[in-house]
Amino acid sequence: MVNEPSSKPAGSSAPPAESSFDRHSGRHLGRQFEREFDYVVVGAGTAGCLLANRLSADPANRVLLLEAGGRDDYHWIHIPVGYLYCIGNPRTDWMYQTEQEAGLNGRSIRYPRGKVWGGCSSINGMIYMRGQAADYDSWAARGNAGWSWQEVLPDFKRHEDFYQLDGGGSDPLHGHGGEWRVESQRLHWDILDAFRQAASEVGIAGLDDFNRGDNEGCGYFEVNQKTGIRWNASKAFLRPAQARPNLTILSGADVDQVVLEIAMGLVGRKVCPRRRSQRRGCVSCGKGSAGRFGPIERSFWPLVQSVVRRFFSAPVLGRKPSSTEPVLPCAGRWPGSGRTCRIISSCV
Ligand SMILES: Cc1cc2nc3c(=O)[nH]c(=O)nc-3n(C[C@H](O)[C@H](O)[C@H](O)COP(=O)(O)OP(=O)(O)OC[C@H]3O[C@@H](n4cnc5c(N)ncnc54)[C@H](O)[C@@H]3O)c2cc1C
Repeated sequence: MVNEPSSKPAGSSAPPAESSFDRHSGRHLGRQFEREFDYVVVGAGTAGCLLANRLSADPANRVLLLEAGGRDDYHWIHIPVGYLYCIGNPRTDWMYQTEQEAGLNGRSIRYPRGKVWGGCSSINGMIYMRGQAADYDSWAARGNAGWSWQEVLPDFKRHEDFYQLDGGGSDPLHGHGGEWRVESQRLHWDILDAFRQAASEVGIAGLDDFNRGDNEGCGYFEVNQKTGIRWNASKAFLRPAQARPNLTILSGADVDQVVLEIAMGLVGRKVCPRRRSQRRGCVSCGKGSAGRFGPIERSFWPLVQSVVRRFFSAPVLGRKPSSTEPVLPCAGRWPGSGRTCRIISSCV
């Protein structure tokens, strides 16, 4: 049983949107949970917090957000150097280990993934990095409509709060007033400046902004922090929305099965006993991002496999690492998904 404090502001007479949840039996849920939702979001991680925010912005939508971890109320989450205490800590990390890898001299290494409100954005390095314009354009060229750099740029700008625009003005590549705070990192060391100087002497140009579509260069990254404190997806997107009466958040809700029901051309997803999505399910349990075929969350893996076996020979979203076996059935096909992940080699 995981007991979580109420998410309602003090003085509110409405029932709390968040409650206790027995992850093993699914019992001890109040009547408020024995109802149907329009959307069920699995995982209050980076994407899940944003989805819950955007979906519940429409009062007509009843949204349920399920998170296996707890609230992001651990002080080390918020102190930037604290990720050292969050990684490898079961309070915030799934504590994965890789298989033994021949390329690592047979070693099994730690593979951190956030298990807490905010997901990996609560334990990560806070580097704000959109990626390469050329990658987006290559995804669009493979048939993924809407994924070109120019098409995704307005979305980046819409949710961004870029510190350089605090005093007004505009930038064709940055936004201001959105939820996702981006600041200059405070850390500056002589040795890092010397490294940057050395890089420029061998032809690697200095770069002050890694988010203009080409991040080749050497410089200080900008970070998701506000006045020196971590700015995770929970603070940006979930906490501002958690008092909405149409958003229910369950912490300690470790989802182990999603049942897809197909009827009359609609796909509905039923998550946990009695939690049912009428229109559409959103599964945002993060896929690993550090490797070419990052592992999907292990706890989520049997769920996906059972769904595939039961219902689908349909187009798939991704493929099982080191295999051609379909991973996740999807109503639409995203050509190349899971095949073009880049590892950013960071200098500073
Ligand atoms: C140590 C580390 C450092 C990183 N550094 C950076 C960086 O500096 N800059 C950067 O841009 N990116 C960085 N990343 C990557 C980035 O944080 C992730 O790519 C991103 O946060 C993934 O978002 P997501 O929503 O896909 O998944 P997540 O944020 O991982 O969210 C998934 C959520 O689903 C929940 N969940 C999983 N399974 C279940 C289940 N069965 N039932 C219920 N809930 C479940 C998880 O607990 C989690 O909260 C880093 C990642 C790590 C781990």
